[in-house]
Amino acid sequence: EVVTRFAPSPTGFLHIGGARTALFNWLFARGRGGRFLLRIEDTDRARSTPEARQAILDGLDWLGLDHDGAAVSQAARAERHAEVARQMLAEGTAYKCFATQEEIDAFREAARAEGRSTLYRSPWRDADPATHPDAPYVIRLKAPREGETVIEDQVQGPVTIRNDQLDDMVLLRSDGTPVYMLAVVVDDHDMGVTHVIRGDDHLNNAARQMQIFRAMGWQVPVWAHIPLIHGPDGKKLSKRHGAVSLTEYRDMGYPAAAMRNYLARLGWSHGDQEVFADAELRELFSLEGINKAPARLDMKKLDSISGRHIAAMEDAALLHELERFLAATGRPPLDDRRRELMLMAMPHLKERAKTFVDLLEKANFVLAERPVGKDDKAAQALDSVSRGILAELTPQLRNASWSRDALEALATRAAEENGIKFGKLAAPLRAALAGRTVSPSVFDMMLVLGRDETLARLEDAAA
Ligand code: GLU
Repeated sequence: EVVTRFAPSPTGFLHIGGARTALFNWLFARGRGGRFLLRIEDTDRARSTPEARQAILDGLDWLGLDHDGAAVSQAARAERHAEVARQMLAEGTAYKCFATQEEIDAFREAARAEGRSTLYRSPWRDADPATHPDAPYVIRLKAPREGETVIEDQVQGPVTIRNDQLDDMVLLRSDGTPVYMLAVVVDDHDMGVTHVIRGDDHLNNAARQMQIFRAMGWQVPVWAHIPLIHGPDGKKLSKRHGAVSLTEYRDMGYPAAAMRNYLARLGWSHGDQEVFADAELRELFSLEGINKAPARLDMKKLDSISGRHIAAMEDAALLHELERFLAATGRPPLDDRRRELMLMAMPHLKERAKTFVDLLEKANFVLAERPVGKDDKAAQALDSVSRGILAELTPQLRNASWSRDALEALATRAAEENGIKFGKLAAPLRAALAGRTVSPSVFDMMLVLGRDETLARLEDAAA
């Protein structure tokens, strides 16, 4: 069985790099009938906050990345981590080191002066326990000094580290607290993790983690270290490139499905396909498809993928997502009548909308209250000549049959009679009905609003 995990440190918002790591692990597990686990790496007590933990849970929830079982707190498992360090001590794969900080500093200084490696070599590694003083100690790994540690990384290929370049790392501090590296290995083992997909900033840790796995005789998971996300200029992604927090993307109005698609493509590819349905992503995602070079953030591509997801969504599902967006961003909810009108208008609203924000802008004719407020451009379209034409048109509409053909014929005739192009008439009509210059077509709006509301809005505008 495939078991993956996402192991964020709750020290801030959920970064889109972290969200992508979570997605890759989720896709890999879900596509193989496996389990996806969540472990909160909250051992840094000073920097971990409950708010950051909640932000991670909210972000995963929004993206739709459900985890199996309860979230594991790494800090709560400290006693288990210490127990493993003591077991290693008993088995001779670790040893007590009584060196003081001053002794270690002195060792390094002398090594530097003599041009030797400054890797600390503890004299306690092979000391007879009978000679141990009654003093504070740390537990160090008795790391192999000869040979190599090879990480068979699924993305980077084999990564070889000479063992003489690694020191005997501390596993348990003198106050009895475990170090992070030990905690990760024990947790991954105890949670039964088979595949670890994470940022390549952890590649260096993998060699040390491998040594702990080996010392314990535990099965080493499959590792896939993915390149970090870069900005459009090829530099490490930062605030100045745009949004880095997942929540910002939610608030900009990208549907979760579009974000899943976009994040999946950020560092993974399947031929040159850009748009994927969820089921397709789960089926096609593989470690082989992960790119070796860092992916670059590309907002144009996100917009295009998002627009295609919105266009392809069922109207009712889209409305449901839109209502989630309204709630998540503190906008007022839809009442029953507006919900009904939105559903009628949805086929027109979703055309060319890249985000829910675009869609809401186009939906202003449904959302606005009478008298419909006009933005500047709409107000300009309602000059006195245009208002005169609207005043003429209104009585004719009162008796027209309310079908697209009849309305179109009527408007075309009105334009002809006034010696103007239809577009000249459409602009003030649109402004009167929507209060905006961006909206569905005037006939689509008339049909959705119905005769009474249409006439009332035209009268408001002509007055
Ligand atoms: N907690 C680490 C991080 O936030 C992840 C460690 C891991 O995936 O092994 O970067």
